[in-house]
Amino acid sequence: MKLALLCIGDELLSGYTVNTNAHWIGNYLQELGLELDVTITCKDEDLHILRWLDELSSDYDLVITTGGLGPTKDDITKSAIATWLGVGLVWDQATYDRIREAFAQRGIRLTEAHKDQCHFPDGMDLVQNDMGTAPGMVVRHGDATVISLPGVPYEMKHLLKDKLSTVLIDHVDGATTTHTYMTAGMGETSIAEKIADLVDALPAHCAMAYLPSTGNVRVQLKSRREPDEQYDQAVKDLRERLGQIVFSESHENIAAALGRILVERDLKLTLCESCTGGYIAHQITSNSGSSRYYDGSFVSYANEFKSRVIGVSEQTLVAHGAVSEQVVREMVAGSLQVTQADVAIAVSGIAGPTGGTVEKPVGTFWVAWGSKGDIHTRKVLVQRDRMVNIRYISTFALNALRLYVINKSSWPK
Ligand code: ATP
Repeated sequence: MKLALLCIGDELLSGYTVNTNAHWIGNYLQELGLELDVTITCKDEDLHILRWLDELSSDYDLVITTGGLGPTKDDITKSAIATWLGVGLVWDQATYDRIREAFAQRGIRLTEAHKDQCHFPDGMDLVQNDMGTAPGMVVRHGDATVISLPGVPYEMKHLLKDKLSTVLIDHVDGATTTHTYMTAGMGETSIAEKIADLVDALPAHCAMAYLPSTGNVRVQLKSRREPDEQYDQAVKDLRERLGQIVFSESHENIAAALGRILVERDLKLTLCESCTGGYIAHQITSNSGSSRYYDGSFVSYANEFKSRVIGVSEQTLVAHGAVSEQVVREMVAGSLQVTQADVAIAVSGIAGPTGGTVEKPVGTFWVAWGSKGDIHTRKVLVQRDRMVNIRYISTFALNALRLYVINKSSWPK
């Protein structure tokens, strides 16, 4: 089954908007066992949209388009599709009623542009959008199915995931089976070395993919066939060999994986963040259900705050500096004391680009994690830009605590 994505919008080409839809759709299709063959980004002009609809629909079985379904003048995808299909635009009363009702509830006046939005290419199936005004549209034309979605990312995701997954699954023909291992704590080259003999022994229809992002690597075993005995055995062997670097075999992120482990053990987490400025807390609270193991934490940026609120000794700060093993150790101890949480992470470092010294250059971080009376520390050196440093060290810290928790056999009551 061959799949294409057509992202429509000038702002995607100018670089004003990052094409996160392509990123998300690629990922989501993989989860369903489908693989995009091509992604095209084009201007919102008839000429371009028609050219790509023609070309993609003759070469691919399923074409997904995003963007240009809204009420503004530059939203021309619907009229372009109508031209391409050789049909007119027809009024859809159900869409009008839904928009009118939603606007009335919010006290918004319906404009002519919104009324125009209720016209659709004749013969297209409409998929009502519970997150916005523009419905998705589906049509079969020639040998291809075309799904047209709004550009706004949360509307697009809602339609594809909640309303159209069955249309997508109809296109899964067992062409790709993927097993994902989410890993942290080891680079892709070391991972490839660790599993080299298993990879060499894979049957010809299987292959590995290594997809690194900041601090973790998504390792995937892919097969061009339905799962068979050999594939299942390979999944098992790889799992055993990769061991504890695997934090999830779904698409769970590292914070969610740690959260799951804390819930299983009934442990509460707190954090004491200096240079990460709450980024780890943000990672934690971005996952729903985090209140089951996280009550709150500290962003302790200034030395005075570290002493007064967390109880880090002034002497330690003067003797060793804020970016030191001793200070992060006291940050963990102090935050556990103040919050009565069971486990904690502390981070202090020089995220850059300024603030480095000869002894402590930009990219020097101290991380501590553990529980009362059992605190571990590590110095980590990274040399990238500020946000990359912050993201990397956050993943490192979350993973360090994950490994600590899964390997600790007993907890003081
Ligand atoms: P609307 O009903 O809001 O007008 P639409 O289908 O017309 O939806 P567009 O006008 O093309 O969508 O885009 C609306 C907004 O959605 C853009 O300003 C942009 O922020 C975002 N957007 C569009 N396409 C993408 C994309 N491929 N990736 C990320 N964001 C996108």
